[in-house]
Amino acid sequence: MAFEGLTERLQNAFSGLRRKGKINENDIREAMREVRLALLEADVNFDVVKDFVKTVRTQALGKEVLESLTPAQQVIKIVHDELVKVMGEAAVPLNKSPHIPTIIMMVGLQGAGKTTTAGKLANRLKKQEHARPLMIAADVYRPAAVDQLVTVGQQLDVPVFEMGTDHDPVDIVKQGLAEADKNKNDYVIIDTAGRLEIDEQLMDELARIKALAQPNEILLVVDAMTGQVATQVADGFNQQLDVTGVILTKLDGDTRGGAALSIRAVTGKPIKFIGQGEKLDQLDVFYPDRMADRILGMGDMMSLIEKAQQDYDTDQAEKMAQKIQENSFDFNDFVDQMSQLQNMGPLDEIMKMIPGMANNPALKNVKMDPKDIDHLKAIVYSMTPKERENPDLLNPSRRRRIAAGSGRNVQEVNRMIKQFKQSREMMTKMSKGNFSGMEGMLGD
Ligand code: GDP
Repeated sequence: MAFEGLTERLQNAFSGLRRKGKINENDIREAMREVRLALLEADVNFDVVKDFVKTVRTQALGKEVLESLTPAQQVIKIVHDELVKVMGEAAVPLNKSPHIPTIIMMVGLQGAGKTTTAGKLANRLKKQEHARPLMIAADVYRPAAVDQLVTVGQQLDVPVFEMGTDHDPVDIVKQGLAEADKNKNDYVIIDTAGRLEIDEQLMDELARIKALAQPNEILLVVDAMTGQVATQVADGFNQQLDVTGVILTKLDGDTRGGAALSIRAVTGKPIKFIGQGEKLDQLDVFYPDRMADRILGMGDMMSLIEKAQQDYDTDQAEKMAQKIQENSFDFNDFVDQMSQLQNMGPLDEIMKMIPGMANNPALKNVKMDPKDIDHLKAIVYSMTPKERENPDLLNPSRRRRIAAGSGRNVQEVNRMIKQFKQSREMMTKMSKGNFSGMEGMLGD
């Protein structure tokens, strides 16, 4: 999970304030010292930290905060709003060309995730806009980069234009663009070469590709896990190529968060997308406000809801809602729901997006095992069709049979039936607008 370290330290900084009813200037100065250390430890750029703390401190020392009834909350709100500002306020969409194709050039250092992200972007455009992108393989130096892009293209059913590794990348791009014109592709995504570090030869080649292709977007791909280095790399590329946006990859492994918090402020360029895993659907729009929520451990409810909407079959969801209303939700539906949940991704990650759950100590070492869902399914599959429709039939002898059939023990079967009944009851209540009883679900 991203930003664990930073979240924990910030929460510690605020817990001192929270414990006090009334706070004074010293309390705020003390908390701000801790915020400053937390940010520096998270590898946020030094100048960014300095400005951030200064702005927050000035606002927090204002009379409205000190005299308010909930000073700690006020301070947290100021920090939250300033985090949002530092990261750029609103999400910035892709630049589009008024006529096809929109040309997107991917640049970045080797290993940052350029090729993978080119594929993720094509996948996203295809799914969300029913677009017909073409990818151009113009990285002729990294061994196997062309093959990698071709493989990604095959996985996604997105065409890849390639001429092997013996041609000038500028020439490859030129012919690739002609191919896109011929096939009326609406997007062209150019995967360019990277190096281990920025050098003149690379920048020269990228500048030549830029001059030829005149891209609508030059997206710089940087690895979030490299913290300050990512920020410096972004600054370097931007000065030479005037990029239009940044994609921050490997946020799933970034416990610190320094790059996410520094890049916008240092380069003036927006982070447009974030990569949160190796799979080709793990690319998300970067929303500064949601990121601030996540950094402060407030969960990320909006992303969770969007994820659910993206992955959820709406027809089925409607059917399910009706069943719940009629109280005819049965074990078959339960298995369907579990399978949908399983498709959404690792359960522990999903749980942490729920407000109040992110830093719930109970979740700290929990790894929700997809196997648990498989066990539940095995139990349901060992029921007869009648039993699945009518849980009240499940007397002790039937439960013993089901346990034997599914290879689980009776206690587990009992627990699962109890959980099923409880969730059914709660869903029915909620569908009637009664939300009491939900608090227990949310941890604290
Ligand atoms: P390139 O040299 O910049 O083209 O980098 P690649 O696309 O080959 O990616 C380098 C490695 O980073 C690969 O193992 C990718 O699977 C991995 N990677 C890329 N994006 C992400 C991400 O968002 N999260 C994680 N965990 N891994 C990523």
